[in-house]
Amino acid sequence: MRSRSAPTIDTVLTRLRGIVEAELGLLPSERDDTPFRLEERLAERERTVRSLEKSVTKGDADSEAVQRRKGTDSGPESSLTGRPASPMDEVIAPWKDCRRCPLCEKRTTIVFGAGRVPAPLMLIGEGPGAEEDARGLPFVGRSGMLLTRMLESIDIERETVYITNIVKCRPPGNRNPEPDEVEACRELLEAQIDVVSPKVIMTLGACAIRALLPNLSAGITRLRGQLLLYNGTKVVPTFHPAYLLRNPSAKKEAWKDLKLVRRLLQGGNA
Ligand code: SF4
Repeated sequence: MRSRSAPTIDTVLTRLRGIVEAELGLLPSERDDTPFRLEERLAERERTVRSLEKSVTKGDADSEAVQRRKGTDSGPESSLTGRPASPMDEVIAPWKDCRRCPLCEKRTTIVFGAGRVPAPLMLIGEGPGAEEDARGLPFVGRSGMLLTRMLESIDIERETVYITNIVKCRPPGNRNPEPDEVEACRELLEAQIDVVSPKVIMTLGACAIRALLPNLSAGITRLRGQLLLYNGTKVVPTFHPAYLLRNPSAKKEAWKDLKLVRRLLQGGNA
């Protein structure tokens, strides 16, 4: 009988690394065109939801910490949370019963955003979908799971960024927001950007980049990958995760955009 020699530690580690990389789908190499493949696993979904819920609390806590550092924690209490008002709470407070545009008619909740304030990276989508409207949080459905994986593919935890949408109330039937709705909500978005004070903004989808920079008229296929500026802040447009779910071949381009974001956050150039 042939005897088998025991594998070395290096062999075991190499095998384990291969298994982990394959499992996570995190293969950030030029060769791999789907570095953030989405595996629809229920366990991961639950992890994402829990992490999102934590991020709302954490965002508030971080904002309060910033306030304390600035010596301003003796300010008024937030009417939204009951805790001392954070900079984001103060921005949001005047909008909490907003009826400035027709989107107020059919919404369940106003989805203001979630995440850390201030944050080095701010993500801006188009508008809440059905699940976001029901839960009051941005990007919690399948698109949200993919977004989380996209961030993880460049070593960014979702909790460390701020995520919002151009309009905060769900457009019926998931249609694009109308220009007057975008304009009605613009003041809030601008105030949020101001308080998040990001180093880089990543917009998700054609509607988001055109709403942020109204002078642009090209489609997202031409705009993505370009380094643009919003009031001096770097902006990288990319595809909406919902589009990537429908068109997996576009993930290769989105991966290039993510790598650009990572370079910019690390202080590099385009
Ligand atoms: S989308 Fe914006 S402007 Fe319109 S009702 Fe909602 S919060 Fe107000």
